[in-house]
Amino acid sequence: MVIDLKTLAELKQALLVEKTELESSLNRIAKPVDAETGDYEATFTEVGNDREDNTTEVEEYTDNLPVEIALEKKLQAIIVALAKMEEGTYGICDNCKKEIAIERLQANPSAQTCITCK
Ligand SMILES: [Zn+2]
Repeated sequence: MVIDLKTLAELKQALLVEKTELESSLNRIAKPVDAETGDYEATFTEVGNDREDNTTEVEEYTDNLPVEIALEKKLQAIIVALAKMEEGTYGICDNCKKEIAIERLQANPSAQTCITCK
């Protein structure tokens, strides 16, 4: 591992901050199924029961779903990155197993692949 401890600590901090932000965004539109793995489910907000309310609910759900999926993906990547830090395999490309450039990790600490495999 070429990443020095100070840089690693900074990257970990950045991941933790982003994780907290993502979790609070997700909590607004989804409920956690398994917080440990970052599995969330878009919530279907009950506005009311007349026809207009039901339309609003469906629209809201349809709007939230792609957002929820994108946030969840990002959160899961962060959880994986943090787990890799614990295991000491952080910064290794999932695809070619080479080290990911530090500049790439600093720009995107949850990157799972190197710039070539992106
Ligand atoms: Zn690669």
